[in-house]
Amino acid sequence: RARQDGGGCRFFRPEILAQLQRRLSLERELQMAVENQAFSLCYQPQVDLATGRVTGLEALIRWRHPSRGPVAPDVFIPVAEETGQILPIGQWVLGEACRQLEKWQAAELGSTPNLAVNISAFQFRQRNFADIAQRVIEHHQLNPERLELEITETALMQDPDSTLKTLKKLRDLGVSISLDDFGTGYSSLSYLKRFPVNALKIDKSFVDDLPLDLDDIAIVRAIIALAERLKLNVVAEGVETREQALFLRDEGCQLAQGYFFLRPVPGVEINPLLTLPPPF
Ligand code: C2E
Ligand code: CA
Ligand code: CA
Ligand code: CA
Repeated sequence: RARQDGGGCRFFRPEILAQLQRRLSLERELQMAVENQAFSLCYQPQVDLATGRVTGLEALIRWRHPSRGPVAPDVFIPVAEETGQILPIGQWVLGEACRQLEKWQAAELGSTPNLAVNISAFQFRQRNFADIAQRVIEHHQLNPERLELEITETALMQDPDSTLKTLKKLRDLGVSISLDDFGTGYSSLSYLKRFPVNALKIDKSFVDDLPLDLDDIAIVRAIIALAERLKLNVVAEGVETREQALFLRDEGCQLAQGYFFLRPVPGVEINPLLTLPPPF
């Protein structure tokens, strides 16, 4: 007998159906992309605001779909996280990034840049994640101190006890940890003290309206002060203008990345010893 309230029908509203179909096809296409290795990495420099020197690079995944063209990670990473496909994808990212780092290391440039790799919560929470990281480092004969893992604060808070174990193992390996999108999740400041992390990344949303928005100024100052107090490095994300870069430098933020310096580019286009002309 048909339901009177129509509640069963709401599910089949056309826009929801269309959304489901889009998702299902994205899921299938991701599977093919995993099998065909249709991903690549781009790299965006992290710049020392005092000197203009590039101290590190963040690896960012790119997916060029055969007919749809580039699909943004903000679109497919959440789907991959829900389906579990993030595990093979994340493993590929880590391996590919380390292969690139090995090349830069072998080029004997005098100093090798740090390489930051985004690790999704799901990937980080695998029991043996630290062992996986260790194996990749050994396979590519990397100096573990050159490798940084970027994890969102929300990911760390999901299971604090096992997180702490994994973080300690990574620290013992010599790998550093950055808290990504800092300030946008809910992290307890007391965990920040307990967890062996090395850097805070100020989320782009707090940088966008600098140097004008008084709330953002207050938040950015507080994060920089917190980082100083806890002896953590601090990196500002999404710096697009000279004014933002100057403001952050004057506030004591050491490192920044953003389109103002360079957009993410393929590894072959990166000269890792690059010093950007100080615009200051
Ligand atoms: P995220 O880790 O916070 O990365 C920063 C994002 O901001 C990147 O977008 C980067 O291209 C972009 N960006 C950098 N500077 C600027 C700027 O000045 N202006 C603007 N408008 N954007 C800027 P992208 O590459 O599209 O990645 C989006 C998100 O997808 C990342 O945010 C990260 O959460 C996720 N992601 C990207 N690559 C990976 C990956 O390899 N693994 C995992 N698990 N997640 C990834
Ligand atoms: Ca990141
Ligand atoms: Ca961010
Ligand atoms: Ca604002």
